[in-house]
Amino acid sequence: MRFFTLLILLFSSSLLAQMTVAVSLQPQAWLVQQLGGDRVSVVVMVPPGASAHTYEPKPAQMAQLSKAVLYVACGVEFERIWLDRFRSANKNLTVVQSDAALKKLPMPAHHHGEEPGHAHETGGFIDRLRGWFGHDHRHDDDRADTHVWLSVQGMLLQARAVTQALAQTDAPNAAFYWSNYRALSDKLAALDGEIALKLAPFKGRGFMIFHPAWGYFARDYGLVQLSIELEGKEPKPAELGRLIKTASEHGVKAVFVQPRQASKSAEVIAGAIGAQAVELDPLAADWMAMMREAADKLAKAMGEHTTGR
Ligand code: ZN
Repeated sequence: MRFFTLLILLFSSSLLAQMTVAVSLQPQAWLVQQLGGDRVSVVVMVPPGASAHTYEPKPAQMAQLSKAVLYVACGVEFERIWLDRFRSANKNLTVVQSDAALKKLPMPAHHHGEEPGHAHETGGFIDRLRGWFGHDHRHDDDRADTHVWLSVQGMLLQARAVTQALAQTDAPNAAFYWSNYRALSDKLAALDGEIALKLAPFKGRGFMIFHPAWGYFARDYGLVQLSIELEGKEPKPAELGRLIKTASEHGVKAVFVQPRQASKSAEVIAGAIGAQAVELDPLAADWMAMMREAADKLAKAMGEHTTGR
């Protein structure tokens, strides 16, 4: 009798067993959850409020990783050193690079003179996907823009790679993951349409931001991202003057900053031009809500422009 109970327990636990999937960033956890539903349990490496660029894993997280069978990497800096360590600490771990097929933009090298994103005038969801293909400079350029999750199209391409990996790792449930993928791509197409419509009146306009995380988003919807930070550093006093000039030329009414990352220069610029400092979170847990909120806040900031462009 006890043997029989044990058999039932073993059988049901294998049916209900969740696959542990580790990811670097919160928005990827959202993605894996969308595709894996209750068949996956997700471990996130970069905690809320930490920088995606300077983060290093804690010992407690290495312990959590030992349960993971899949690691979804997206190309952020710490992965370059740590993925090998994760693999040697956990021999069962398969790493999938969800950004593998993505052509990346360079990080902004100038404070101004940046071109607006080249969104196709008549382009819809599929047209904007084209920006992600072509020659990839990533391997010879350390300064590639790693914020690939801040693009609806970028997320769709990552979703494909993640679905493939989930379906391979858990083959008996492959149909489940692909059906979730199809549902998600419909949601992404609808979200893209909604954002494109909201931002259409502001094509060619600029928004100013401390940390330039929204370059792909700007490219997708034809906006100009004006970065305060340059190569990860606060601007020098002489550059501040130029930034203030750029901000007023673009009629900037809001200076965007990340939550929990105070920036002296963003405050100075906002103060000088009478703009508001507005928080824009690039690493929220609810990715879809975050993208909608970003579109709303950017539309509001650009709608309040007093001068053109
Ligand atoms: Zn960033």
